[in-house]
Amino acid sequence: MKVLGIETSCDETGVAVYDTEAGLRAHALYSQIALHAEYGGVVPELASRDHVRKLLPLIRQTLAESGMAVDDIDGVAYTAGPGLVGALLVGAGVARALAWALDVPAVAVHHMEGHLLAPLMEDDQSDPLRGRPEPPFVALLVSGGHTQLVAVDAIGRYRLLGETLDDAAGEAFDKTAKLMGLPYPGGPQLAALAGQGRAGAFRFPRPMTNRPGLDFSFSGLKTQVLLAWRDSDKTDQTRADIARAFEEAVVDTLAIKCERALDAAGCDTLVVAGGVGANTRLRERLTAMTAARGGRTCFPRPAFCTDNGAMIAFAGALRLQAGQREDASVRVTPRWDMATLPAV
Ligand code: ATP
Ligand code: MG
Ligand code: FE
Repeated sequence: MKVLGIETSCDETGVAVYDTEAGLRAHALYSQIALHAEYGGVVPELASRDHVRKLLPLIRQTLAESGMAVDDIDGVAYTAGPGLVGALLVGAGVARALAWALDVPAVAVHHMEGHLLAPLMEDDQSDPLRGRPEPPFVALLVSGGHTQLVAVDAIGRYRLLGETLDDAAGEAFDKTAKLMGLPYPGGPQLAALAGQGRAGAFRFPRPMTNRPGLDFSFSGLKTQVLLAWRDSDKTDQTRADIARAFEEAVVDTLAIKCERALDAAGCDTLVVAGGVGANTRLRERLTAMTAARGGRTCFPRPAFCTDNGAMIAFAGALRLQAGQREDASVRVTPRWDMATLPAV
């Protein structure tokens, strides 16, 4: 089954074709970062309009790269939420219309399920012998809008173990970068800067790790950075040192809670997805933590940690294969609890 996947939940237009026999056939991404940079954040109406401009050309490009014609498609998957309502409607409208015209089924995909299943889409290049992870496992979802620990009992059966009470981890990276003067969106740049920071020059707390529980809080850390930066000599080296201490605090906090979640769920396989999953220090730390207990951590390749169409095509393919499909109306769900999804 060849499934066209469409992602338009925020500021990235992503399109891909996933073939349940041959795997990922092609994928393309258009990022609106430059469009939103001058406002310092995503402007919803501009995002919707840019998806309108880019989606059809991107679908043509992806089909051409996959060597397929549009009527080779057997199903269409689209992100129906959570996300910006206008942006979601662009993808849902195009997906639903295309499926109707081709007379193939369409399926609505939960954006965070897309992220969560991305590590199951292809073999782990760093560890190809061990195969793809299979439930039950624990998933850490760390993106721009979410920080969640989820027990995955089966594909489609998700139990929330813990989540952030304030900022998401990616949001904390972006806001911290901004307050030290890095251009939007600062998360990846802050991470790059942390690589030049000296160990031990600064130290920040590991929020909510000294009491039981699996919830997170990252907004206080941001304030700690603000104070340290304000009272510092503000040199490039100091900025890098603070970036390093911030990154270590976030990574340490995530690792401590992941280990607790594995204990609570009684398993040793951790799956990590979402933009912060591209962070090198986080990848190394979690890999070491699970190896020490005889388990493993599975990540998507870094490009599939952040938003992309491939994860939507893949998640949609699993649901279409299980017989799930939508009726002909165009419907989106900007706020959507993953625990309410049907099992596959
Ligand atoms: P959500 O999926 O919750 O709706 P989103 O789609 O905006 O949010 P993603 O695209 O998954 O989020 O991830 C983007 C986030 O990942 C940004 O906050 C960005 O700063 C962060 N990020 C990307 N690369 C890195 C990195 N190397 N280190 C730390 N953070 C990173
Ligand atoms: Mg994004
Ligand atoms: Fe995302």
